[in-house]
Amino acid sequence: MSGKQSRKPLIAANWKMYKTPAEARACAAALLPLCADHLRDEIVVCPPAISLSIVLDTLSGSGVSVGAQNMHFAEEGAFTGEISASMLTSIGVTHVIIGHSERRLYFCETDEIVNQKLHTALRHGLIPIVCVGEVLEEREHGHTEEVLIRQVAKALLNISPDNAAPIVIAYEPVWAIGTGKTATPELAAQAHLQIRSEVARRLNREIADDMRILYGGSVRPDNVTAMLNQPEINGALVGGASLKPESFAQLVKY
Ligand code: PEP
Repeated sequence: MSGKQSRKPLIAANWKMYKTPAEARACAAALLPLCADHLRDEIVVCPPAISLSIVLDTLSGSGVSVGAQNMHFAEEGAFTGEISASMLTSIGVTHVIIGHSERRLYFCETDEIVNQKLHTALRHGLIPIVCVGEVLEEREHGHTEEVLIRQVAKALLNISPDNAAPIVIAYEPVWAIGTGKTATPELAAQAHLQIRSEVARRLNREIADDMRILYGGSVRPDNVTAMLNQPEINGALVGGASLKPESFAQLVKY
């Protein structure tokens, strides 16, 4: 099976810097019965690093995976405050978000750093969710395609098609994150096509056709279905609406 049929939708919750460990455990526990037996989509919860272990324990055996919101590209070293890929895999983390726009904006994460992190994640068998997307000014000046091509090309630099199958890309127009503004499904689908074409150019057509490209940016229970009905949109990366178990469960059941 290849192409559209092989793209199992992925719905990922990004809890950002919200929830204490006790709150994260309670939220994960509340999600369990709501998402039990859900096989159609891959479901991933990305809590703050301090809560990874507790959420892994709570969701153990449920089919819901746990991802990190960030990691360092180095194997180990004097990088105060950072977390490595092997630290993540050693406790059972399976996914990692790379290059979220908030990390690019507030923590100076460049395309080059995103590329280094992607290499490291793949080497360690993590499923990387690589975020790309334009800011409002770039969209308004007609630079969206150029920005997406640059971010995808630089993220994939020196990645071999042989290792690229696990990569997931999230298209997250920065102007839609946490703002309540959502891209229209058609506009998002067009961006996804541009991203997929660049993946085909950098890797190959087969990898591009199989790659899951998620949409992120103010996804809510009332707009998720229209988004995911677009064949080009293969899941969602959800911030605000993933913080309440009922609303995330509603999203998952789009
Ligand atoms: C995100 O954090 O990646 C995100 C898309 O946030 P929100 O759903 O709140 O816009």
